[in-house]
Amino acid sequence: MKAAQTIQMVDLKNQYLKIKPEIDKALIEAVEATAYINGPEVKQFIQSLKDFNKVKRAVTCANGTDALQIAMMALDFKPGDEVIVPAFTYIATVEVIALLGLVPRFIDVRKDTFELDYTQLDALISEKTVGIIPVHLFGQCSNMVPILSIAKKHNIAVIEDTAQAMGAEYIYADGTKSFAGTIGDIGTTSFFPSKNLGCFGDGGALLTQNEGLGEKVHIIANHGQRKKYYHETIGVNSRLDTIQAAILNVKIKYLNDYSFARQKVAKKYDAALGNIDGLSIPVRATYSTHVFNQYTCRVSNGKRDELKYYLEERGIPTMIYYPVPVHLQEAYSIYGYKKGDFPISEQLCNDVISFPIHTEMQDDVQELIIENILTFFR
Ligand SMILES: *Cc1c(COP(=O)(O)O)cnc(C)c1O
Repeated sequence: MKAAQTIQMVDLKNQYLKIKPEIDKALIEAVEATAYINGPEVKQFIQSLKDFNKVKRAVTCANGTDALQIAMMALDFKPGDEVIVPAFTYIATVEVIALLGLVPRFIDVRKDTFELDYTQLDALISEKTVGIIPVHLFGQCSNMVPILSIAKKHNIAVIEDTAQAMGAEYIYADGTKSFAGTIGDIGTTSFFPSKNLGCFGDGGALLTQNEGLGEKVHIIANHGQRKKYYHETIGVNSRLDTIQAAILNVKIKYLNDYSFARQKVAKKYDAALGNIDGLSIPVRATYSTHVFNQYTCRVSNGKRDELKYYLEERGIPTMIYYPVPVHLQEAYSIYGYKKGDFPISEQLCNDVISFPIHTEMQDDVQELIIENILTFFR
């Protein structure tokens, strides 16, 4: 059995070693060709992204946070407009709302699937609401059909934050499926190394089925120009490096295998941890596949930190995604929210714990993790 101290949340090294010849070849080719910005690898990756996700337009950019910002700019959100966003999410989702002078209107999430609670949408929508951002947290889609139907009724745009759910599929009532990020007006994603499709640095993309919107996104990500040095709109400089695209061209071929590997690890955790008093394993939505960017459980009775410390002492890392809900973050106190405003988000911040999950998990290592979790609860 491996020494306990080598256990990691994510094993990027072994993932790389498995495809090293292919990656190294792609990297050296990109370096030698010297087209470091917008090289042919970028165009090829855009095509691969479109093919994989069955989507009309894909635009690459520098990271997932930029993708969110570019989406809101392309949708013409104006300062003072309100955007509905879960209180339980990664900060990036809210950060760009604030940076653009928009007003975040937080919404509480569901305790079981961690997604925004769409039954609270109607009450939050005002004259000023222009957007809703469902976050497909931890690798599972939010329930898009009811969200889209409410958005349509009020003529509001929907941006899917798909940073943690590349490759997940939304399942409609009739059994047909659409990839996460291709269902709302725009989907945004990240290729940060630990995401489901990760590069060797920062990267991001936007997906849309709307050609016109896709063209706008493309222009905004490129300094607002269609033709070099002719700027028709205010844009940003947000590009995916050619070198990162070369890596992603190789890795996207393995995305389905990666999802499958993560699902296998999740299944094994489920079987071992499903009957513990005081621990709830991740709940699977009927309307989505789950690609397990994280395997996040809930611990009741205030024992979460104790479990984290217990496992840490035994060389098993865990993470708390997320320890503080966005509405209670210091930087966002300007919006005047207080403790008690979003009770489920606040409770989850005390209860959630994410166990190691990645594409290279060894059986013996996972068994050791499981054994220690079981011992804690025994
Ligand atoms: C990672 C992440 C982002 C931001 O992606 P970056 O590429 O790190 O900027 C946005 N939203 C969510 C939910 C994320 O997990």
